[in-house]
Amino acid sequence: MKKTLAMVMAALMMGAVTVGCSSSTPASSAGGASSAASTEPTSSETAAVDPSDVTIGVCIYKFDDTFMTGVRDQMTKEAQKFGVTLNIVDSQNKQATQNEQVDTFITKGVSALCVNPVDRTAAESLVKKAKDKNIPIIFLNREPEADILKSYDKTWYVGAKAEQSGTLSGQLIVDYFKKNKDADKNGDGKIQYVMLQGEPGHQDATLRTKYSIQAINDGGFETEKLAADTAYWDKAKATDLMNTFITSQGIDKIEAVLCNNDDMALGAIEALKAHGYNKGDKSKYIPVVGVDATAPALEAMKEGSMYGTVLNDAVNQGNASVNIAVATAEGKDITKDNIGYELTDEKYVWIPYVQVTQDNYTDYMTK
Ligand code: BGC
Ligand code: CA
Repeated sequence: MKKTLAMVMAALMMGAVTVGCSSSTPASSAGGASSAASTEPTSSETAAVDPSDVTIGVCIYKFDDTFMTGVRDQMTKEAQKFGVTLNIVDSQNKQATQNEQVDTFITKGVSALCVNPVDRTAAESLVKKAKDKNIPIIFLNREPEADILKSYDKTWYVGAKAEQSGTLSGQLIVDYFKKNKDADKNGDGKIQYVMLQGEPGHQDATLRTKYSIQAINDGGFETEKLAADTAYWDKAKATDLMNTFITSQGIDKIEAVLCNNDDMALGAIEALKAHGYNKGDKSKYIPVVGVDATAPALEAMKEGSMYGTVLNDAVNQGNASVNIAVATAEGKDITKDNIGYELTDEKYVWIPYVQVTQDNYTDYMTK
């Protein structure tokens, strides 16, 4: 229903034919951050290639990821706007599955590939496959090594600077401790924290962990790590992990909870709530911060159970990926004019993160 409307709107916006993109356009699912804001590349009218001849093969590491669902939904919208076919598949968190999916797309002769790798070290073999058949390949969200991107002129990366998200989330904690003198519960002048980390090996997990603590220290606070472990970006795993931390550390010892993403922050909050924390009683509150600014996280900020987050801009990451794929499929150079986004070192589109606080979170709601 929603999709049909979106397609009609897309057709109207293009003022022309978008017939034919329906059958192979996969269904999008709800969840994740998304908004209507989108960039209009200047070159769409001058396309030498008929958009209905363009098929983009997209592999998402797993559909069951809140943030990537936001990106995926936006890619679908953006492709409809261009009238190109987007074929999106779920790699089900298995690199072997994804490799086969890429092989199938290549055999079918897609115009371009967009890949959110399961394991970013697998990018090397994917680039080789694509290069062999002269098919452009755009990576997103999981960053391949620079020399792999350099090994083929039709490879790009769309993502966000992980260290920036770490810094912004750490600064949220600095802000909280500056505003709340009694947040240092044991009065030792240090912030005792626990850290819930994303998947090991993911640049966002490593760098958010590192730079969030660095930002707290740079903000003038000493820190003491009570416990840190991975919950693989996952809400349910985060609830379990937080319960483990609460049991091993004692809830009254924990002064801050840092999470590499919002799903894990929401999972940690569930555990805190089960212990009577973050439910409105000011004496039973621990600041929890995440990254992404997903719809449920913004709701938790509204409710007061979550202190802050950082916008990971799914809309612009989705749009930039599709814009590069379409431009290159149409034989255009990948330049700012042709894709609507600044390009760094001819390979990277970096979408900025934005800090989301109690003062501005409503700006990001229900878009
Ligand atoms: C997001 C996480 C997501 C991960 C998937 C990160 O950038 O913040 O929420 O699970 O990407 O690769
Ligand atoms: Ca303390």
